[in-house]
Amino acid sequence: MTETRLLIRDGTIITFGSPCRVLEGQALLVEGERIARIAPLEEIPGPFDRVLSARGKLVLPGLVNAHMHYYSTLVRGLGKAAPSANFQEILENLWWRLDRKLSLDDVEMSARVILVDAIRKGTTTLVDHHASPGAVGGSLGRIAKAVQESGLRSCLCYEVSDRDGDAVIDEGLEENADFARACAAGEDPQLRALFGLHAAFTLSDRTLERASRLGKELGVGFHVHVAEAASDVASNRSRFGASPVARLAAHGILGDGTIAAHAVHVDESDADLLAASRTWVVHNPQSNLNNAVGIADVVGLVKRGIRVGLGTDAMTVNMLEELRVGLWAQHFRQDNPSCGFMELTGALVFRNPELATRLWGFPVGTLQEGAAADVILVDYHAPTPLNDGTVLGHLVFGISQATVDTTICAGRILMEGKALKIDLDEAAMAAESRRLAGALWERF
Ligand SMILES: [Zn+2]
Repeated sequence: MTETRLLIRDGTIITFGSPCRVLEGQALLVEGERIARIAPLEEIPGPFDRVLSARGKLVLPGLVNAHMHYYSTLVRGLGKAAPSANFQEILENLWWRLDRKLSLDDVEMSARVILVDAIRKGTTTLVDHHASPGAVGGSLGRIAKAVQESGLRSCLCYEVSDRDGDAVIDEGLEENADFARACAAGEDPQLRALFGLHAAFTLSDRTLERASRLGKELGVGFHVHVAEAASDVASNRSRFGASPVARLAAHGILGDGTIAAHAVHVDESDADLLAASRTWVVHNPQSNLNNAVGIADVVGLVKRGIRVGLGTDAMTVNMLEELRVGLWAQHFRQDNPSCGFMELTGALVFRNPELATRLWGFPVGTLQEGAAADVILVDYHAPTPLNDGTVLGHLVFGISQATVDTTICAGRILMEGKALKIDLDEAAMAAESRRLAGALWERF
C-alpha cells in the first residue's frame, strides 16, 4: 500500500527549530505520517491524494505544550473551593480535593474535551501529568484512548505522591510501569510515557528511591513539579535538610530525559544541578501568576545553559497566549522591558520541539523533511515585512492573535476550514461532560 500524499501549497512556511526560517514560494509534501519534501512547487511531482491551498495563510508546525494536566478540565466554573491564602492551601482546598473524587469516566472525558480545544488552537503535542488517587489503575489507558481518538500526540504519566497513603503509592508506581511497558510494546507514534512524580515535598525518600529504580528499569525519564512555590523548598529543607532539586538529584531523578516543571524557587546550586544533569525545565507563567507563587528567572536559567521549554499547567492549550504572558511576566520579573524575548520565544520555538523530539525519538514540532507531519495553517496577512529576522516578533504580536484554520497531526487532517474532521459530535460530548462535571461537583 502506498502512503497518502498530501500537498500543501501557496502558503508562507515558518519552520520553527533553530534557526526558525520563513520560506516563501515553497510547498510542503506529506507522505503518510511524515513530511517528505519542502521545495518549490514545480520540484514536487504528483500525483497527490489531496492538495490544500494555504493562500493567505501561514504554514506552521503543530505546537507543543510541555506541561499539561488534562484532569483539571472539569473544574471550569466550580466555585466550591474555600479561599486559599497560599499555594499549599490551593492544593488542599481545590486540586487534592478534586483529584481524589475523579472517576475513570471523568478522567477520560477531561482529556477528550480539552484535546478538541487543542486541535482548535493548533497544539498537536501535549505532555500530560495526571492525578486521580481514587481511580489510579487504568487511568492512563483511558487518557490514551482519548488521545488516540483525537488524533493528537501525548506523552503521559501518573503523578506518584505519598499524600494518599501506601496503597495509592503502590498503585501509582504500577500505573506508570504498566503504561510505560504498554507504550514501548505498542509503538504507537501518538503515545509516549514518562514516569510521573508529584513534587519532592509530597514524596518520602523511600518512594523516591522506588520510583527512581523503577523508572531506570523501564528506561523512561521523569516528569515532576520542582520548586513551584517557596513552601516546597521550605518543606524539603526542614524535613529532609536539602532543597527539592538536591533531593531529586540525590535520588537520580534528574537527567536528560526528565522534565522539571516550574523551577520558580531555585538557587545557584540548584541551577548548577539542573544544568549539569541536562534536565529540562518547563516554565508555566500563567499558572505561576494565577497561584501567586512567583515568576521563574528564565533569563538566568537559560544563561546557565539550562534548556527551558514552555507549558501551560492546564491554564490553556493556546501556546501563543502562554508565550505572550510569559514574556510580559519576564519583563516584570527582571524589572526590564527589554530582556527575555529570545529566552521566551526560544522556549516555544526551539526548546519545545527539541523536547518533543527527545521524547518521541524522531523530529516533532518543526517543519523539515523527515519530521512528523504535524502542521497547522493559520489565517494571517503579514502587515509588515515577514522574514527570518522578524518572524519571532510576528509570532508574539500578530500570529498569536490569528485564527488556526487547519490542524494536521501525523499526516491526518483533524480540522479543516475551522471544522473538525474527526468522528465526534462536539455538542453531545459537551452535554456528557456537563453531566459528569455536575456529578463530580456534587461529590466535591
Ligand atoms: Zn503542573
